[in-house]
Amino acid sequence: MISLITPPRTPFFKICYICVREFGSQTVPIHELQCVECLKRQKPRRPESVTTK
Ligand SMILES: [Zn+2]
Repeated sequence: MISLITPPRTPFFKICYICVREFGSQTVPIHELQCVECLKRQKPRRPESVTTK
């Protein structure tokens, strides 16, 4: 469905659901993949870091 609410200035833009940034409709899928990888790396969840006192 074509939304009629799209602004004329940015007809082809999507928002990355991860970092909530505007990207081209063709760029966002590629960026999202990179964004997910970044999140995985930034995740502090590491079993090794969990040390018992
Ligand atoms: Zn992103």
